[in-house]
Amino acid sequence: MFVEKLSCPVRHYAWGERATADRSPYISALLGAEAGDLPWAELWIGAHPSGSAVVKRTGEPLAKLIQEQPMWMLGLAPQENSPQPALPFLLKVLCCSEPLSIQSHPDKATAAKLHAILPKEFPDANHKPEVLLALSEFRMMAGFRPLKEIVTDLDDSPALRPWRKALSEEPTLEELTRFVLEADAPLLQNMANLYCQEEHTGIQAEQFHILQEKYPGDCGVFFALLLNVFILKPGEAVFVHANVPHAYLEGEGIECMANSDNVIRAGLTPKYINRKLLLSTLDFTPRPPSLLRVPASQGDFDFTCGDDFRLRLIQTTPYTRDKNVPAVFIVLEGRANVEADGKRFVAVKGTAWFATASIRKLRVTPSTNTKIAWAET
Ligand SMILES: [Zn+2]
Repeated sequence: MFVEKLSCPVRHYAWGERATADRSPYISALLGAEAGDLPWAELWIGAHPSGSAVVKRTGEPLAKLIQEQPMWMLGLAPQENSPQPALPFLLKVLCCSEPLSIQSHPDKATAAKLHAILPKEFPDANHKPEVLLALSEFRMMAGFRPLKEIVTDLDDSPALRPWRKALSEEPTLEELTRFVLEADAPLLQNMANLYCQEEHTGIQAEQFHILQEKYPGDCGVFFALLLNVFILKPGEAVFVHANVPHAYLEGEGIECMANSDNVIRAGLTPKYINRKLLLSTLDFTPRPPSLLRVPASQGDFDFTCGDDFRLRLIQTTPYTRDKNVPAVFIVLEGRANVEADGKRFVAVKGTAWFATASIRKLRVTPSTNTKIAWAET
């Protein structure tokens, strides 16, 4: 096998997009599938053990083929400390119409420790750096705001007085966060209710209201004041470093991440929450959105995340893969001519593909109005 068409699993999480009178969910429209009443949240293009794509031609899971022929598929001889050869990254189409949980992902050393102690909650020993590339306007919160701005917001709100009073004169970001994560539920509930009755302007206060409506009194609501809330324009991207708190709020995007499922959650979710662990691992360095944004590249979007993955958006310029590495791609708009070691075919909108590392020459030529999300190592 060289380049294989994939059938990719869809995740119908509750926060996904539902069909409205005038619009189908992005993912169902992309796949040409009937939307029904389901929420369409994520499309997984990869070989993750909890959701591997399947090779259409043979019906075999990609993860199984990779384990059987790691050299051919990944260009890797099996390593001693990783007995199960795996695709090092996962590409997703992610569409949310409601907020996802407040979370962070551990760095490599922490992930290894957590996996050893709590293998159920932390299913692998890997870190999970991730990049989100917006396809529509995409609202999110990530990284701590400057300390002064948060304290000013607290000082301006009688509702938040109990929070301010519990802190030292010059509190740290850790103190501010600790209060929210450790306070009693009725106190948080009361503060959130009162805050929403006060008059506050700006995107932070607006987000606070949105979260309070959906998760009244949840500690995650207060992260609307702790973290930067911002909106990416289509084509803009954000890189989420290890241990940086974040939540995707609304929009459509492409997400690429290291092959890991390690998530430490703080709130806004019925899933497993570990506030203590979050407090002990969070990176309390303030990072304005500009520092989280991926610098714009000349031409098509192109971002490399260490040894873990490289994410490209192929739109105008033909792309020739220049290393023997595995790649997956999905055609989001238009069509492309693909040439793999002399074999040619056309990849049309909605199709996803895996290209083995063993292909010597791989070239993708987009036609007009074409958009292809491409990930490789
Ligand atoms: Zn995340």
